[in-house]
Amino acid sequence: KITLFWFRRDLRLEDNTGLFYALQQEKNILPLFIFDRNILDLLEDRQDARVQFIHDQIHTFKNQLEQKGSSLMIRYGKPEEVYTQLLAEYPIGAVYTNRDYEPYAKERDQAIDRLLGEKGIPLLSFKDQVIFEPGEILNGSGEFYKVFTPFSKNWLDKFKAANIQELPAPNWKNLYHTSPLPNLSLEDMNFQPSGIPIPPAETQDSLIKTYDETRNFPAKPGTSRLGIHLRFGTISIRKLAIRASRLNDTYLNELIWREFYMMILAFNPQVVDRAFKPAYDQIPWRNNESEFKAWCEGKTGYPIVDAGMRELNQTGYMHNRVRMIVASFLTKHLLIDWRWGEAYFAKKLLDFELASNNGGWQWAAGTGTDAQPYFRVFNPDSQTEKFDKDLKYIKKWIPELGTSSYPKPIVDHKFARNRAIETYKKALEQ
Ligand code: FAD
Repeated sequence: KITLFWFRRDLRLEDNTGLFYALQQEKNILPLFIFDRNILDLLEDRQDARVQFIHDQIHTFKNQLEQKGSSLMIRYGKPEEVYTQLLAEYPIGAVYTNRDYEPYAKERDQAIDRLLGEKGIPLLSFKDQVIFEPGEILNGSGEFYKVFTPFSKNWLDKFKAANIQELPAPNWKNLYHTSPLPNLSLEDMNFQPSGIPIPPAETQDSLIKTYDETRNFPAKPGTSRLGIHLRFGTISIRKLAIRASRLNDTYLNELIWREFYMMILAFNPQVVDRAFKPAYDQIPWRNNESEFKAWCEGKTGYPIVDAGMRELNQTGYMHNRVRMIVASFLTKHLLIDWRWGEAYFAKKLLDFELASNNGGWQWAAGTGTDAQPYFRVFNPDSQTEKFDKDLKYIKKWIPELGTSSYPKPIVDHKFARNRAIETYKKALEQ
């Protein structure tokens, strides 16, 4: 019998909980990765940099597994169909994996669990992508937290008490011995290489140490750019959180936000397409298509907004401070539905992560849990004055600033601010 270890958003060999326990508890471990057509078929951009990233990463560790006398099984299809084929091809005794808390992932895993269960094969799952999973940090009445600060306090107390450690090296001799299994190219899946570079999966101690001072200034290389690596598990959250707790509380706090939003989504799966605060679903969004297009293209005439959108379009990244500004601008200045902005970010961000993206958008739109109140409307000019005073970031992305080819403001700030506050207020009174 062989045991499958199914990789999903944990694309590394070291400090990988499910893989470690599979290798410790079973013999003949065959690692598996499925390019999931339920997800890939929805991607419009056939040069999606994230698909290339996953592809490259798994082929790197396929080579490493081959040096150990094993390989990686790579399949392309819908997970239920792939498992049906695998069950016919291999004598499978068990499947090990790490848990994923997104609504689609939970549904998928339940379906695979049923399929395997019919043959008496267990699906064993482990905590790996978080320090504390949804349900581990609850308030005194055993309910989920709606506010971040008490959640983070409880999280930190538990983190200190738990004395979390990285796992030791796995027992590689329990890998299944096989000659190399077939590779799968991007072209096989009808994708092509992307020109967008991926930031490295590492960051300096010196950056984390000064993070609280530098993180708000988009012109500085002051944040870690590890988002995509946390998203796909190419770095271990345990390793990073242990480092952060030694080096900088503010950085650790951001990792707690990540788990806060995962918890919010897990307990409130409806937030995927509805406001966390139901009354906010009554806001009559203007949804002007040409204004939305101007926002997407970075042509609103508000330099900080346009710089952010151009950074996103060209690199797949946008600085957090600027994400907050552009999201506020879309939802409040233009009164465009936060779901439109959320979907655009989902297409473009290398570090797109459903829970954090939804949380970030609902925060900016004021519709979320512990959100920016609706009557606080970021003033793009004063944000620029505070965080990009010498216009270094703006000029990097808008070389034509100050020339006649740069557009005039799409809307007057004062007018838009009042319109937003009035519109929200009226909708909430209903
Ligand atoms: P750093 O500042 O170096 O932080 C380290 C890590 O902490 C990040 O990689 C991320 O995993 C986590 N983190 C930091 N800030 C937050 C936060 N506010 N919420 C949750 N986790 C956080 N983050 C995503 O990972 N994916 C998204 O799709 C996403 N969409 C966002 C949309 C909006 C509208 C807003 C306002 C924020 C969004 N964020 C998202 C949060 C944040 O902007 C990014 O995590 C951060 O900018 C990524 O850059 P970095 O890796 O250099 O982060």
